This record gives sequence, structure tokens and C-alpha cells, in this order.
Amino acid sequence: MSQKRDYYEVLGVSREADDAALKSAYRKLALMHHPDRNPNNPDAVEKFKEASEAYAVLCDPDKRARYDRFGHAAMSGAGSGFGGFDPSAFGDLSDLFNGIFGFASAFGGAPAGPMGGSDLVYRMEISFRDAAFGVEAPIAISRLEACAPCQGSGASPGTKPKTCAACRGTGRQRVTQGFLTVMRPCGICRGEGRVIESPCRDCGGEGRRRGRKELTVRIPAGVESGSRLRMTGEGDAGPNGGPAGDLYVVLSVAEDEVFEREDDDVVVRLDLPFPTLALGGTVEVPTLEKPEKITIDAGTQPGSEVRLRGRGFGRLGRSGRGDLIARVGVRVPSSPSKEEKDLLRSYAELIGAPVGKAKGDVFRKAKKIFGDG
Ligand SMILES: [Zn+2]
Ligand SMILES: [Zn+2]
Repeated sequence: MSQKRDYYEVLGVSREADDAALKSAYRKLALMHHPDRNPNNPDAVEKFKEASEAYAVLCDPDKRARYDRFGHAAMSGAGSGFGGFDPSAFGDLSDLFNGIFGFASAFGGAPAGPMGGSDLVYRMEISFRDAAFGVEAPIAISRLEACAPCQGSGASPGTKPKTCAACRGTGRQRVTQGFLTVMRPCGICRGEGRVIESPCRDCGGEGRRRGRKELTVRIPAGVESGSRLRMTGEGDAGPNGGPAGDLYVVLSVAEDEVFEREDDDVVVRLDLPFPTLALGGTVEVPTLEKPEKITIDAGTQPGSEVRLRGRGFGRLGRSGRGDLIARVGVRVPSSPSKEEKDLLRSYAELIGAPVGKAKGDVFRKAKKIFGDG
């Protein structure tokens, strides 16, 4: 395989190109290299695919951001079901080609016959902990499934669809527009290449019926909001008994009240009383599992971090876990008792710390020592 070209270079746009510029650049290239306009020209097919892939990535803000950061490496999901080239991105492209080409034939001038079903998207919210550890979750989706009585053919049981006479089964007809000859879906069979004379009564000849399907989604540890899991073949059944599309589960991860995520690490704020920081001590820190005891060294400063190895998020696509980071702060009493105040003032006096005015002898002594400035 040759080296992949930069997507911006493929489309001939700047890295700052907006959606309109991307769309316009892609449209121009797609029309120039479209397989229907370049029969028997494998080079054009490659160019068409290359431009389509570049556009599919750059028109998706998430993918574009990842591509900008990591280049092609961001798109090569190592079998994890993430990233990769996603044909479903072409869903919104049909308007680019309307009235010009039968878009279904764009990839390799496919002859009529069973087509793939649509990809489906299922949005799912999971908890912070489930994202950290991974989870298996049941979902129920509504999708088109092959009709059982006609086995997806659409023809009433015992009969078969017939080859369309108008297009002789190709599903396409030649249309001349000025100097340009293009292919369009056949008007008689609507591009399917065959006609059903006696439609199945259960599905009305569609070959598919809407059904509900329960599935189990295996969510790996370390996913984040926007992660997509592909479940191959769990989308809509294809028309005419064609292969099913894929199901994409798009995740959003709920925030946690205690923890925050930083890459694979989990951060927890640990506010401690001043004496504990000054003298050191053993304290409890919450983790994603159970609280753990950690030792605070004497003289620990606010803002310092204590790291618990391997108590963070699972690393997506790799083994091991990130760390838990306890970020140390000072807990200041908001309404100290009289006794606490007295002790604090004594200590302030001892170290020469300025403190506010208060009734009482201790404070006056402090004031005498430091004056007013
Ligand atoms: Zn049927
Ligand atoms: Zn036809």
C-alpha cells in the first residue's frame, strides 16, 4: 500500500477550510472522478474513494479534530471498532449528487441486486465508573428486519421476483444530458433490477418489517464521550435480502460528583486541615473502588499531588489502568469555635501572622507587636 496523502491536500483546501469550502472541494473532485463518468478507469475510482474518505473525516467535527491532532493514526482503529473509514458519513451526501448520479452505484458501479441495509446510530449514556471499568449493557433498538414469510424477498411465499424487462436487470438506465451520458436508477424497478408481481402480504413487498431487537453492548474500559462502538451487521436488514448495515453505539459519559478524568488518570480533590499538612498524617482518599489510606508527609504544600498507581481509568485498547491523583488543598474552618479561635490566634502570634481584629487580649498583644502596617 502506498503512503496515504494528507486529507487537506487530497481535497486541495487549507487546514482552516470551513464546511462550505470542504463540501464544494469534495463535490468538484467527486464529480470529476465519479466512476460513472470514468468507466473502466481504476485510477479514477481510487481518486474518488480517496476524496470521499478525506471528506468523510473532515466534515465530521470530532474526526477532524482527531485527525488534526494525530493524523492518519487517529483513523486507524486497531480492530477496536473505533475510528476507521465510516461509510455512514455519506448519509448526508446524497444531496450533492441528486439529479446527477445514482449515488448507490458510486462505489464500483454496483449492478442491481441486494444492497446493504442502513447503518443505525444508538445514543447511550453511561456512568463515570462504567466508562472506567467497562460494562456489558442491554439495549433495545427498533430496526428493519428481513420479513420471515418471504425470507426478505418481498415476493409472496412460493413466488419469486422477476428480472426487470426495462433495464434487463441492471437497475440502471442511460440518460444523455448535453454532451454527458450518465446512468440513472431505472424508473420501472426503481433501480432494483427486478419487479415483484405478487407481493408478500406480510411486508407489502418491502421484504423488511420494523422489529424490536434486544442486544448486549460490550463497552470496553476507557471509553469517553463521543466514543463509537460498531456492532457489525446489527443495523437495518438490506433490501431484497441484502446484507444488514451496522449499528453504531455512540456513548456519552456522565460526570461524577467526586472524580474528574484527565486522560487515563482520575483526579480527586483532597482538602485537609492545616495541621495534617504541617505535621503529616494518614488520611483516607476516595477511589473508584473503595476508599484507601494514604500517608501525607509533614510539610506537604497545597497543590501537591499524591499518586495511586493503577487506580485510574482502564486504558482503551491496551492493558492496565491510569493513576488516581489526589490533589491536596487546605480545609479552612468557616465558623471556628471560641477555643479554636484562641488557639489560632496564639499560633498566629507565635509565627507573626497578621490576623483580623477581634475582641480579646490575645489579639491586642499581636497588634502591639506588629503595629498597624
Ligand atoms: Zn414478506
Ligand atoms: Zn429496471
